[in-house]
Amino acid sequence: MSYDFDTLKVQAGYDAAQHNNAVSVPIYQTTAFALGDSYRADRLFSFSDDDPLYTRIANPTVDVLEKRLAALHEGAAAIALASGMAAVSYTLLNAAGKSGRILTTARLYGGTVDAFTSIYPDIGLNVDIVENPDDPREFERGLKENTSAIFIESLTNPFAAISDIEALAEIAHGHGIPLIVDNTLATPYLFNPLQHGADVVVYSATKALSGHGNVIAGAVVENGTFDYGNGRFPHFEQPLWFLRDLDDKERNILQVFPQFPFTGRLRAVHLNYLGAALSPFDAYLVLLGLETLSERVEKQVANAKATLDYLEHSPYVAWVRHPSAQGSPYRALADRYFPKGAGSIVSFGFKGTEQQKRTFVASTKIFGYQANIGDARSLIINPAETTHGELTPRLRELAGLSPDTIRLSFGLESAKDLIEDLEQAFKTAFEETA
Ligand SMILES: *Cc1c(COP(=O)(O)O)cnc(C)c1O
Repeated sequence: MSYDFDTLKVQAGYDAAQHNNAVSVPIYQTTAFALGDSYRADRLFSFSDDDPLYTRIANPTVDVLEKRLAALHEGAAAIALASGMAAVSYTLLNAAGKSGRILTTARLYGGTVDAFTSIYPDIGLNVDIVENPDDPREFERGLKENTSAIFIESLTNPFAAISDIEALAEIAHGHGIPLIVDNTLATPYLFNPLQHGADVVVYSATKALSGHGNVIAGAVVENGTFDYGNGRFPHFEQPLWFLRDLDDKERNILQVFPQFPFTGRLRAVHLNYLGAALSPFDAYLVLLGLETLSERVEKQVANAKATLDYLEHSPYVAWVRHPSAQGSPYRALADRYFPKGAGSIVSFGFKGTEQQKRTFVASTKIFGYQANIGDARSLIINPAETTHGELTPRLRELAGLSPDTIRLSFGLESAKDLIEDLEQAFKTAFEETA
């Protein structure tokens, strides 16, 4: 029997009978798990037994979250990590191996783009950037012989641009490489990349997935169908001593994790040796947030839509970006991929001086001025100077990020109060410096 999304989000991956009949998922606050006898220890250490061994690698609370996320995507497996940045960096490193490259765009979370120059070259990960990501053919042209993956965000931050995911998946697969999608802004409630050709989905669970602004967490989900044995991923095919079986015979990743090679390798290599493990308590917070994912995101999208009309008619606003905004170039893609709405991040151009803009972001009383999105509370920020402030001028231009940009992340408050809050902040900004 298959269950709907809303049933899975509160029930999947958990069987109370296995946990002393506890109704709420217990927090297994323990570092290690008893090995039992030494033969059982042999099995645990050789990946021949799935039981937990040490919380950096696996923990029963974290495991429920991973199974629930896999179920919500109809994926083969998921892995939870300590942050969205760990999820992005481990995923790209896992795809590229020793000598691969990642083909991507500048329209990404600021920290992700910044890593392309700040750290990835130091660790041998090379990134190529497509200049016009609206044209899938540019991705085709940008592929190099050793490109290992195409990486995009399904809904971009801060402009909510939408890519033609199915076209990009076809290009990636034609080249024998996976399509990796950061689905943080969309959440699986609005969009499931795996159902549109993506092979790996990455999350900052810090944002709308957990949705309460109280945890830093990340996750990676895989479809389990991509063939990492096609000759382009030697790091999945090479037999290794640390993957040896009980008879000390070396095995490769594909042999040890045939159902979920991507997250299997990510756990055995990146999580194991680089160590960004999610704590059981934080996994519990994400599980709690997931229980209301659909209800929260639906309200957030409704609040965003209710405010679009107000912004589009405001004399203080130069432009508005959201796929549902008038004249958005992403309307057709939004209709096709986002029937429940294209997210709750709205950006607009502030029509005033720099000083007035600074007064404006400091004058909202409901919208909180902070570097976060997807919270139950509505948030406001000036991304060019803050979240995307570290981008080089060229990358900022490619991302289309002008200094007048204001980003709103809609929470769960009353739409009427949110609109009135913006109105009073505009008035304050323009009266004070008029
Ligand atoms: C916030 C964010 C990240 C980074 O996540 P953290 O949990 O802050 O490490 C990555 N991608 C996107 C799209 C984000 O919004």
